[in-house]
Amino acid sequence: MARVGVEKLLERLLGVKGLRVRGARFEPRGVVVEVQPPRRKSRCGVSGRSCPRYDSCPPRLWRHLALGRTAFWLSYAPRRAECRRCGVRVEQVPWAEHDSHFTREFEEMVAWLAQRMDKSATCRLMAINWRTVGTIVERVVAQRLDAHRLDELYLIGVDEVSHRRYHQYLSVVVDHLQSRVVWMGEGKGEETLNGFFDELGAERTRQLTHVTQDLSADFSKVVKQRAPQAVQVFDRFHAQKLANEAVDEVRREEVRRVAGTEAAPGVKKSRWALLKNPWNLTLRQEQKLDEVQRLNRRLYRAYLLKESLARGMDYRQAARASEHLDSWCQWARRSKLKPFVRLSKTVRRHKQGIVAYTQTGLSNGVEAGLNNKIRLVMRRAYGFRNTAALKAMVFLCCGGLLLNPPLPGLA
Ligand SMILES: [Zn+2]
Repeated sequence: MARVGVEKLLERLLGVKGLRVRGARFEPRGVVVEVQPPRRKSRCGVSGRSCPRYDSCPPRLWRHLALGRTAFWLSYAPRRAECRRCGVRVEQVPWAEHDSHFTREFEEMVAWLAQRMDKSATCRLMAINWRTVGTIVERVVAQRLDAHRLDELYLIGVDEVSHRRYHQYLSVVVDHLQSRVVWMGEGKGEETLNGFFDELGAERTRQLTHVTQDLSADFSKVVKQRAPQAVQVFDRFHAQKLANEAVDEVRREEVRRVAGTEAAPGVKKSRWALLKNPWNLTLRQEQKLDEVQRLNRRLYRAYLLKESLARGMDYRQAARASEHLDSWCQWARRSKLKPFVRLSKTVRRHKQGIVAYTQTGLSNGVEAGLNNKIRLVMRRAYGFRNTAALKAMVFLCCGGLLLNPPLPGLA
């Protein structure tokens, strides 16, 4: 049997392209492998231009993927290059991004895990803290985000999401056809959305056919000005959210109203039974709903109104949807439930846009899925250093990024 040199073995085990192994040593932190780039000439770390060597730095360490319990580190004393454009800079190394202390394979793995796993599992498995995950995600996303993501937009959605941690809003633009986030801006309202249209430019804006939006946001004016050809659509996800909020308001009123009376148990612990989709109810929740129906007519009426609004958006024919919404508005107006009287006004005002929704063929499940995912990811990104890392995380998880981490294969 042929003997394998230990350097060759290490090169194979590390699985990093573009390095030569010179030697290795054991240290308390793990195995430190001395490496060097295969090419003689140094390249500027910032611009990547080939340039003459200036001097050398002391050895540096790059963290690589672990093998079992053993951490692996790459050690190399990078040269400094004298770049005509950037001045004297540390050279580019083929295994890592400039300014990173991790190999590309390590960063790719972290990003891949962060797309799929919760915070603590990612940190534990890679032995890094969550802030570092944020920094790595920023770097990976900067490299991988589809530069052409704004080129073919036809049916888009605009939305604003608040993140409590930073007491700010993010405005998010999604491409409904590819079901991914394509743009994010800090802040909300007209000014932020104008920033999106500026970036999109006149030509690409003219391609837009539909823009879905929140009933309560004030994006309408901007869309009308900037993309007058696009149909404004008020999407189902947000209409349902408003209906849910109205039900919840009625529920809280009723809890207060009947407190201490015989009717009190009827509304107790009814929140989820009222808000969930009927086909998702557990047996207990079904029983609860039954109880609400028997014991609290006002609250049950609120529930029926919510469900009826949802049914109205199931119609595929515009005329049917429009008819249904008209009668829904009448019912809501006479319901003697203040939150629904208010909602009936909003629905009437935006009726055209809601009917337009039924014509887009968008599936509410997909749309709500993406919306919920954005919110979930933003909550998970608490603890990141800044909003740039937060945005990168949303792009990573909801921007359709494909990663290629070094996973074991049988090939
Ligand atoms: Zn340079």
